[in-house]
Amino acid sequence: MIEAQAQKIQNSTTVVAPALPTRKRLPLDYQQIPLFKDINPLDWEDWHWQVRNRITSVEQLSQVIKLTAEEMEGIKKARGRMGMAITPYWLTLIDPEDASCPIRRQSVPTVYESQIGPHEMVDPCAEDRDSPAPHLVHRYPDRVLLLATEQCAMYCRHCTRRRLVGENKRTGANNNWDAAVEYIRANRKIRDVLISGGDPLMLEDGILEELIKKIRSISHVEFLRIGTRLPVTLPQRITEGLVLMLKKYSPLWISIHFNHPKEITKRCRIACEMLADSGFPLGSQTVLLKGINDRPFIMKKLMHELLRIRVRPYYIYQCDPVKGTQHFRTPVATGINIIEKLRGHTSGYAVPTYVIDGPGGGGKIPVGPNYLLSQAKGKYVLRNYRGKIYTYLE
Ligand SMILES: *Cc1c(COP(=O)(O)O)cnc(C)c1O
Ligand code: SF4
Repeated sequence: MIEAQAQKIQNSTTVVAPALPTRKRLPLDYQQIPLFKDINPLDWEDWHWQVRNRITSVEQLSQVIKLTAEEMEGIKKARGRMGMAITPYWLTLIDPEDASCPIRRQSVPTVYESQIGPHEMVDPCAEDRDSPAPHLVHRYPDRVLLLATEQCAMYCRHCTRRRLVGENKRTGANNNWDAAVEYIRANRKIRDVLISGGDPLMLEDGILEELIKKIRSISHVEFLRIGTRLPVTLPQRITEGLVLMLKKYSPLWISIHFNHPKEITKRCRIACEMLADSGFPLGSQTVLLKGINDRPFIMKKLMHELLRIRVRPYYIYQCDPVKGTQHFRTPVATGINIIEKLRGHTSGYAVPTYVIDGPGGGGKIPVGPNYLLSQAKGKYVLRNYRGKIYTYLE
């Protein structure tokens, strides 16, 4: 039927193809954006230039994209902490015509951020409560989270730490990690330090090195990792100099925040390759976001693309109940279904763990499809990814 119809349409001379809007292919060449058309390629590749030239106002952004009323109002309301900041690089990935563009929704504030959902909190994971020293969160006995800075290249509209990150009036170099480092030094149980933020790679090489060196000098810290989003939002930050510095402190694991396959551009791939070639094991962290990556085929594509650039999918997070993020939150069933569609259907390496960070400070709790149907007297009734039943006898 459909084929016959299609044939008919093809044969018909009266059918005129609708004029498609001339949509530019993304990512745009930066010279295609009037705001940047005269920029020297050396400047474009300079991460400091990218940071200095971030888009922070309606006036600048509306020169490039057709803003909706919801966006315009959202940008004006997002002042101070969690103000809008979009690197020129990230801007080239935004669809200027489509307000539902996943890249755009992650970076352009909307009025929906001022609507507070019923169970939302300022600090849902109770990080401030579990902080024994400035910059430090100590939740699990053997590892700590060190929030090295409040700065990021781009402020993700779904950010869990919106209470902490962003431009701060009482800013300045609040890079005094001495108490945090002393706390780690005095606690021999801490074998794992996760340096995150904000984005620790926003620090200058020398300052970051000082911190890493201090932590490395603690003999009971055997595992050191960095959490960053800069290979995605500011890949120019991954310079030869940075990589050489970090290499001195190997082994160093790096977790990168990725949410959508469109984020994996040629430029991002170069940054990840530089890190992988220098021997840093790379992992991904993804936040499950409504209308952005909540469909199984998009998540699968993201995981496949990550493996191709040597990033091992690590976690998918349920979007934390942070104030003003209701419009991004999916039901938990959506996340479980995504794992159901991955496990067994693709390479095991492409399957991250879906976790809910227990509200009130429970830590990351894995949730996923149930494959164990019953368990009694040494008899395990299991189902496989296709729903077939198998019995394992102990
Ligand atoms: C996520 C997190 C860690 C690290 O957890 P892993 O499951 O080991 O990756 C450590 N401390 C805090 C407070 C965290 O939120
Ligand atoms: S990079 Fe991380 S800390 Fe920074 S705004 Fe995005 S989610 Fe928040």
